[in-house]
Amino acid sequence: MTDAPQMGFDTLQIHAGARPDPATGARQTPIYQSTAYVFRDAEHAAALFNLQEVGYIYSRLTNPTVAVLQERIATLEGGAGAVCCSSGHAAQIMALFPLMGPGKNVVASTRLYGGTITQFSQTIKRFGWEAKFVDFDDVEAVKAAIDDDTRAVFCESIANPGGYVTDIPTIAGISDAAGIPLIVDNTSATPYLCNPISLGATLVVHSTTKYLTGNGTVTGGCVVDSGKFDWSANNKFPSLSAPEPAYHGLKFHETFGPLAFTFHGIAIGLRDLGMTMNPQAAHYTLMGIETLSLRMERHVENALTVSKWLETHDAVDYVTYAGLESSPYNSRVATVCPKGAGGLFTVALKGGYDACVKFVDSLEIFSHVANLGDTRSLVIHSASTTHRQLSEDQQIAAGAAPNVVRISIGIENAEDLIADLDQALNKANG
Ligand SMILES: *Cc1c(COP(=O)(O)O)cnc(C)c1O
Repeated sequence: MTDAPQMGFDTLQIHAGARPDPATGARQTPIYQSTAYVFRDAEHAAALFNLQEVGYIYSRLTNPTVAVLQERIATLEGGAGAVCCSSGHAAQIMALFPLMGPGKNVVASTRLYGGTITQFSQTIKRFGWEAKFVDFDDVEAVKAAIDDDTRAVFCESIANPGGYVTDIPTIAGISDAAGIPLIVDNTSATPYLCNPISLGATLVVHSTTKYLTGNGTVTGGCVVDSGKFDWSANNKFPSLSAPEPAYHGLKFHETFGPLAFTFHGIAIGLRDLGMTMNPQAAHYTLMGIETLSLRMERHVENALTVSKWLETHDAVDYVTYAGLESSPYNSRVATVCPKGAGGLFTVALKGGYDACVKFVDSLEIFSHVANLGDTRSLVIHSASTTHRQLSEDQQIAAGAAPNVVRISIGIENAEDLIADLDQALNKANG
């Protein structure tokens, strides 16, 4: 089928990128479990290796099952192209890799997934890269943090551990004025709730491990390029604008235009970093993504019902869900994530750290796991787990203070979730 842009999200989440298998007519996308692809002849092989012709060479670079998922996510995000990789963290490195270099920095929000804060504050230093963390509500501080060596601005649309919505249009305005790409991690919102590209983002990254797959089976990631950034406007992005020695001096931006970042991601990123998504993982994610809109609607509905109920409970100090009128970020929902504020939020207990531990241990339907965005309801005490490596100040800045539990609301019956929370809260209180 043709993926005409006027088609609705529900149609595209099922059809974009897929067509009946040309060899067999198989209606569902086959799992192309093959490492290599036969060249028609030596000339064909040479053209593929020179990037003069697009086709399959070797599955570290491209695979037909993974390619369907890439096209599907790119379409849902309104991007020009996408590259899937082995995890969300791999996607973040793949997004930064063509932009950064030794001595260069990324200006990042303090409100990020705990693992991303660790990746950015510790591990990327080994590449000579630096992250400068800033409160993205402080517009002047974001502007002030951008310097001559800044190569990207990074934030999450709905930030983990929940309840915070980034003012993407304002941040995009700042990065645009500075001539720097804005990268938005859209994992928690998904393209159903938020379209960072239409709000001004250059690149979108995903942990497909979460809502896009939705069933807690595989890890994966994706980098989507809007195709709108002018990589050749100055000499800040030589990987994309200058001659590439590994491809006989080819210039990615000049040669591939809006697909420059995507081609670079495959031809250099996956070729040399090797953080490839395997076709089995792509299959599970393709299965999940077919029902994304239906699941997200239920996640949002349940999150609203449960968070409203929690706000009234005696054991609860406060609830941070941007869908609640009590949230300072409620006013951003209409522009940033008009179909709802997602399924993630935090609840702070009056009983502090000890009550949180007792609460988490007493839940029966909710699972205590380091994951989110599953059909199942999940819970985690971030301060003692995902945000454990952070200082208490960093924990508080990230919304993961010691008295706070993160809840990822599933798509079960809301009454059952409330009953489970009620019995656990009463135990934590008693
Ligand atoms: C889980 C997650 C990541 C990391 O993804 P992995 O697939 O676990 O590597 C990054 N960002 C956000 C917002 C996440 O929830």
